[in-house]
Amino acid sequence: MLVRIAPHAADSTTEIVLANAIALGLDARAIADGQGGVTVAIDGDMHDGALDIAGVVSVQRKHKPFMLATKDAKAAPSTVMVGDVAIGGGAPVIMAGPCVIENERDTVEIARMVKQAGATILRGGAFKPRSSPYSFQGLGELGLQHMARARELTGLPVVTEVMEPDQVEMIAEYSDMLQIGARNMQNTPLLKKVGRSGKPVLLKRGFSATIEEWLMSAEYILAAGNPDVVLCERGIRSFDTSTRFTLDLNAIPVAKELTHLPVIVDPSHGTGRRSLVERMSLAALAAGADGLIVEVHPNPDSAACDASQTITPDTLDRIVRRGLAISEMLADEPVLTSVTVLSAD
Ligand code: PEP
Ligand code: MN
Repeated sequence: MLVRIAPHAADSTTEIVLANAIALGLDARAIADGQGGVTVAIDGDMHDGALDIAGVVSVQRKHKPFMLATKDAKAAPSTVMVGDVAIGGGAPVIMAGPCVIENERDTVEIARMVKQAGATILRGGAFKPRSSPYSFQGLGELGLQHMARARELTGLPVVTEVMEPDQVEMIAEYSDMLQIGARNMQNTPLLKKVGRSGKPVLLKRGFSATIEEWLMSAEYILAAGNPDVVLCERGIRSFDTSTRFTLDLNAIPVAKELTHLPVIVDPSHGTGRRSLVERMSLAALAAGADGLIVEVHPNPDSAACDASQTITPDTLDRIVRRGLAISEMLADEPVLTSVTVLSAD
């Protein structure tokens, strides 16, 4: 259930609601509603008497099964900080870098090009979830060290994938944002672990996951105490084999109607084709995405992983320039607020 507390209420109102819930053995979490008030999300039911407290303005018993992620809990868009880069509610953020980290020299060179192009976060895989066990699986911790060096030299914060709960602490030491890949979207032990990591999380949509399943996965991270979740649409499976995946542009405004969390798009995996990445990047930003994550390499054909969808730094440069112009042009689009309240079961 969601308990809303008025902007002018005393801090003690939130504390009393939390204490009453905890006394009943219920998990409860308070979040700022973005409009000066507080919403307390309680996992379970409390009778009206226990909530008859000055400052409580409403009690909502029916909600989506991802209550902390909904606009019912927080109407204003969330902003997630990655280093000093703000994702959500403002100019789009472009993350770019190689699919897989190959060596220190190339990583530093790519990071410089990424920065030069105007992207503000460096991506790179060190632990790779490859479909075949015989494909290059990444350099592991050495790859993280190369990314850390690139961050030191360029100042760009870094995002990298974590695949197992036991890796979270080590990877969190090297990175500014933890990526959960499409294949792990419903790895609930991993979601709970990154929920306790203290690092922002980039949650990719599973390629056969519904938008509601994606948001329930985000809820695992929020419910574990981590408010810093960014969603990433990266293409879904469809009947059509002309592209690697089908980039679901609908997912951007649909997710934004349901949640306050930022939504970014991965046009590289979403298309699988270098020639389509620029157009689909621009389309994603026109559809309201808060940013992009793109695979880039100075010699795309020689990239050790996902060469066919990897673009050149020149193309990245154009995406950033034209993408920012499109976002600026559409900045006064009305904020999407339609919220349908469904039962929790
Ligand atoms: C990636 O970003 O390198 C990746 C493996 O993406 P996904 O999990 O979306 O397949
Ligand atoms: Mn890739």
